[in-house]
Amino acid sequence: MENVNIFELFGQYFAAFKDNFSTQIASPAWDNPYYIIPAICLLTFILELALPKKQKYSVTSRKGFWLDLFYVIFIDYLLLLFGFFALASTVEYLFRGGLEAIGIASPVLFDLKSTPFIVQFFVVFLLMDFMQWFGHFLLHRVDFLWNFHKIHHAQEELGFASTRHFHWMEYIVFKPLLFLPFLFLNFSAAEFIVIYLWIGWFFTFFSHCNVKVNARWFNYIFISPETHYWHHAKAGPMRYGVNFASTLTIWDHIFGFFYYPKDEKEPELGVEDQEKMPRTFIGQFVLPFVEAFRFGQRKKRQQPMTRAERRRQEKKKMK
Ligand SMILES: [Zn+2]
Ligand SMILES: [Zn+2]
Repeated sequence: MENVNIFELFGQYFAAFKDNFSTQIASPAWDNPYYIIPAICLLTFILELALPKKQKYSVTSRKGFWLDLFYVIFIDYLLLLFGFFALASTVEYLFRGGLEAIGIASPVLFDLKSTPFIVQFFVVFLLMDFMQWFGHFLLHRVDFLWNFHKIHHAQEELGFASTRHFHWMEYIVFKPLLFLPFLFLNFSAAEFIVIYLWIGWFFTFFSHCNVKVNARWFNYIFISPETHYWHHAKAGPMRYGVNFASTLTIWDHIFGFFYYPKDEKEPELGVEDQEKMPRTFIGQFVLPFVEAFRFGQRKKRQQPMTRAERRRQEKKKMK
């Protein structure tokens, strides 16, 4: 890897991205990510209109609806325009450089390109979905990361747009994890990305929908609002949460985090210190940094309490 100026490199990536962005925006198509997002929003919006679960509010009068919609625009468009794509590409370049420096010029472990597309598709899909699961698990398990992920969990009423209500720092966790399968398997099929985006994005938007579904056996393979709502429970059955899936629930089965009670009423949603959560975008942008970097102060863990812990706390209060 020749000597490069990181700022220049970032500038080049940014210029290339800007050109690409303007051509893409000007050409609507089913395989254009900038149009897949509004298409999925529309689809899930219609689902919520047609099959509402909680009827005390309408699709748009739900708590936080407009803020969530802004998050969709911020995460899927503005963040990229502010240079996030260029930043991710620069980090990727440096990562490759690091691998070269330690003598791994081409880290391909298995040349997936020599297998039929259908095999490539399933292998990469499973690996990406697992990486997504693992990244989400880390966001819950590591205190530092939970400060950022808490923004997603501080929502008290969910709808399709709640999906994108998260802190952009989460991408820093997911980007390298999702990039690894491609690097190690020598795989970069554009048609794969498009199908992956349609499926992956549909399931994440769908899992937050306020829709009445009775998914039964489907829940044992794919995520649905029935299982994801339990992921958002204020007090769940396990310390660090349950149901971390984003598309396939098989990882939760394998690692013992699957929770799908059929006879329990839906949980209260949110986080323990709900009242302290800012309601504005700027507040939610800043708070995790303040909390995560508050060095020297041991603060008490704020991840969701288990129900047993909550019962103990209530008993204590009664005494
Ligand atoms: Zn979560
Ligand atoms: Zn969620």
